[in-house]
Order: sequence, then C-alpha cells, then structure tokens
Amino acid sequence: MSFEKNIRSEFVRILGKEWVKDDQVTLYTYRCDGLALYTAPPMGVLFPGTVQELSSVIKLLNQYKISFVARGAGTGLSGGAVPQEGSVIIEMARFKEVHEVDWVNRTITVGPGVINLHITENVHSHGYHYAPDPSSQKACTIGGNVAENSGGPHTLKYGVTVNHVLGIEMVLPDGELVTLGGKHLGMPGPDLLGLVTGSEGTFGIISKIICRLTPNPEKAVTLLGIYTSVRNACESVSSIIRHGIIPAAMEMLDKITISAVEKALKPGFPLDAEAVLIVELDGLADGLDAEAETVEKLLKETGATKVNRAQDEAERAKIWRARKEAFGAIGQISPSYYVQDGVIPRSKLPEVLDEITAIGKKHGLTVANVFHAGDGNLHPLILYDYENPEEVEKSHKIGEEILEDLIKFGGTLSGEHGIGIEKAEWMSDLYSETSLANMQNVRVFFNPENLLNPGKIFPHPGRCAESKAGTPPPNLSAVNKTKLVAAKSGIAV
Ligand SMILES: Cc1cc2nc3c(=O)[nH]c(=O)nc-3n(C[C@H](O)[C@H](O)[C@H](O)COP(=O)(O)OP(=O)(O)OC[C@H]3O[C@@H](n4cnc5c(N)ncnc54)[C@H](O)[C@@H]3O)c2cc1C
Repeated sequence: MSFEKNIRSEFVRILGKEWVKDDQVTLYTYRCDGLALYTAPPMGVLFPGTVQELSSVIKLLNQYKISFVARGAGTGLSGGAVPQEGSVIIEMARFKEVHEVDWVNRTITVGPGVINLHITENVHSHGYHYAPDPSSQKACTIGGNVAENSGGPHTLKYGVTVNHVLGIEMVLPDGELVTLGGKHLGMPGPDLLGLVTGSEGTFGIISKIICRLTPNPEKAVTLLGIYTSVRNACESVSSIIRHGIIPAAMEMLDKITISAVEKALKPGFPLDAEAVLIVELDGLADGLDAEAETVEKLLKETGATKVNRAQDEAERAKIWRARKEAFGAIGQISPSYYVQDGVIPRSKLPEVLDEITAIGKKHGLTVANVFHAGDGNLHPLILYDYENPEEVEKSHKIGEEILEDLIKFGGTLSGEHGIGIEKAEWMSDLYSETSLANMQNVRVFFNPENLLNPGKIFPHPGRCAESKAGTPPPNLSAVNKTKLVAAKSGIAV
C-alpha cells in the first residue's frame, strides 16, 4: 500500500517532499504501536509541522474520504495508533514547541508532540512540575496522554491527565480548527474538554495543549515494603487507605518482576521476596516523617517483613527507575510480553491476583504483575515468545480470561491504556447496547463520517444510530458543530 500518485503530489505541495513518506521501511515501522500483537500497515505517513499544514492535509483527506489517525510516540498499549483499514498516519512529532509558560496562571502551553517528561524538565527548577507521570514518560507525548487520559504512579494523589489539562486547540476531522477551555478551570455548559480527553484520538487531532502546573512538594519520603506474600502486600494497601492516608504513589512489583528488574537495573530489591510495595508520601516537610512512621507501622502490621526507607535522592531515584522501567526489564526474562490493563476495586486485589496466576498456569505461560496498587489498576504481563504461534495464541486467550475476571469482580476494562483495537469487542460485555449507541452518537458529533481513527473503542459492527440509519442522526449535524466552535475561549498564545 502507498499513496496514489495524484494524492501524493497534493500532500507534497502542502508539506514538502521530505514530510510525505510511503516507502516500505516507513510503512513497516508505523504498522503497530507498543502493543505489537496487532499490526496493520498505513497507506503512508504525513508529518505536518504547523497547524495550518495539519488542517490542510486533513481537509484533503476528508475530500478524498481517506481515513486517518494521529500518532504521538507510538507507546500506546491498546493499538490506538494502529492504522485500521489502511488509514494514513498523521505523525505529530514535529509539534514540539513550548509556546508559553505562564507563572501567574501556573500553566504551560505546549505542542502535542512534546514528551511528557520534558514538560516537567522545563519548569522543575522554578518549583513546579506536570503531575501525571506515566511510566513511559521519557518517551510518550502529551498529545497521546490527552487522547488516552493517561495516568501514572503519582496520579493516586494528584489525579490523571483530565485533571491537569485546562485547554486544547484541536483540528476536527473536516479540517476545522476549534478551541476548548482556556487558562482557567471550568467552562459553563457540557464539559467538551473532558469528553475529548480520553476519546482515544477519535474526536479530533489536538494541536496545542494548556497544562496545569503543580508546585513541587517540599519533601518526599519513599518506603519499600518487603513481603513473603502478595496477599500481605495487598493488605498493606487497603490498610493505608483505610487509615485515611493517601500516599502520592503505591506501586507493587511481584517476584517475577523483581527478578527482571534486578537483572536489568540492580535496584537492590530482595530476590527471595514474593512482592515489594513502593509507598511514596509527599507534601509539607512538617509532619511528613510522622506520617511515614505511621505508614511503616501499618506495613509491618499487615505482614511486611522489612521496610526500607530511601536515604537520599539517589536511592529514591533508583527505586523509581526500577518501577518505571519494569516493563522494559521483562526483556531480561522473556522474548516478549503482552501487558493487560484493568481496574478492580482495591478490596479484590488478593483474589484477582491469585486468579490471574492460576489462568497463566492453566495455559502454561507465566504472568508477572507490576501495577498501580493504590488505584487497583492492574498490569498483568503475560510472558510469551513472539516466534512461537502457539504461545501467541495462548497469550491472547490468557488476556481474554483475565478481562472476563476483571468484569466478574466488579472491575473495568482499562485503567489508563485505553480500549483501542484490543478491547473494542469487549465493550459490549461492559455496556448495554443503548449506552454504546449513546457513546457512538457523541463520537458522530465530532467525527460524523468516522474518517478519524476508525475501528477503535467500539465493537464491530457498531450498533449506533449512525450505522442503523447509514448517516449521522439529524440532531448531530453541522448546526451543532457550529456551537462547538462557539465554545472557544481564547487559547491563542
Ligand atoms: C513501558 C510503557 C509504560 C507505560 N506506562 C503507562 C502508565 O504508567 N500510564 C499510562 O497511562 N500509560 C502508560 N503507557 C501507555 C502509553 O505510554 C500512554 O497511553 C501514552 O499516553 C501514549 O502516548 P503516545 O504519545 O505514545 O501516543 P500514541 O501511542 O502515539 O497514540 C495513542 C493514542 O493517542 C492518539 N493521539 C496521539 N497524538 C494525538 C493528538 N495530537 N491528537 C489526538 N489524538 C492523538 C492516537 O491516535 C492513539 O489513539 C505505557 C506504555 C509503555 C510502552
């Protein structure tokens, strides 16, 4: 697959030859995201550098009725940036500008191609940071974060992306530029900005983002609880929350993950432990040590055999590196892994973790666990060999059975990685037909012809008003879209 000659020349006219690619290497490179189990080559890849170029190529794609999908860094883990139906990929990496830092309003306005960690690096020495910190933060873009409503270890206390994005500029699937929100909290009327955050790149392509800046805590204390039983580590999580303490982060690594991170990064985690629990407390220096002592006591009461406290910033960084690079470290013990993402009520952690291990054993594959324990956001890592078709099939099967379990225990399909292609079929297990149709109607409002990122989120065939009628319902016409444009509130900087 590649661009037709006449369309190609129109893209080249808008972007320049260098930024229109459909050679075999590019098509291969862009065939998947972080979830390598699903692949599909794009028709080609476009690299706009300005919002005008972005809007012009989208207008052209719309004119030719060619589907398209935005891509940030491609670290997504649900197939969100995979080009279904031979879509064109619009790579947003060139939108890396930091437009403005506004210290009075405590905001930073950035292009969607800015890497998450770079936002904090821009403001840290001034006493601020950008709070949502996905473990992929050294690579993933803020545009991808908004699309997925990403979380991270410290979102337990500080909230996920939607709580830290105040405004966006976005190009709709017909090329029209709209803005939502601004430099302040709250807009009257329905929360369109909230709707776009987490819509997995199906509502529009974001071209500018106003992020809220959070003051750096005066002090942080990082504890490492060591356990001979995963159940006890789960008990510790519940006990801390029950005591009314909300740590900045509570992350768990099981024995298999510990062995992988020790091989790769040597953080000094005990190899004979069944689990370690990282608990970070932060805030005003006053009182923090006392809170840490309470937490240490609770960890011991619920079965921690030992609790270590990071003595300095270097030790703290070592612990966090081990946690944040744990997925990559799995490469030390397995040729590939398939990471699941689901949420369960915290109280169900012990039972669900036991079931996950049993499901893996039943199919003869190992399942490791490293996850945001405080949020009940599980990340089972199914270890398999991508060159062994039988193991590939088994890993799909295990993933499905884990999802069934999450729903059975009152949980949900995704905590932060999104639905994408991976879990679209599962949405009918979670939602009624009416709920799905209502959600599709919202999608139709922004993306009436389904040209933007088709085949994501919703099960096939889509049972929505649009698919029944063949055209968007009349109340979702251009008239309402004009109102969306009218919602703009001066994002220009
Ligand atoms: C090792 C590892 C650890 C991870 N840890 C976490 C974690 O702790 N928390 C977490 O939430 N996620 C985590 N992830 C998942 C992933 O990093 C996030 O989903 C991230 O937000 C994706 O960003 P990206 O730039 O790579 O987006 P991509 O993968 O390129 O795209 C993801 C989705 O966003 C859309 N998109 C991208 N840019 C735009 C734009 N400008 N406008 C509209 N839509 C757009 C795409 O179409 C796609 O649907 C992890 C991934 C890896 C590989």
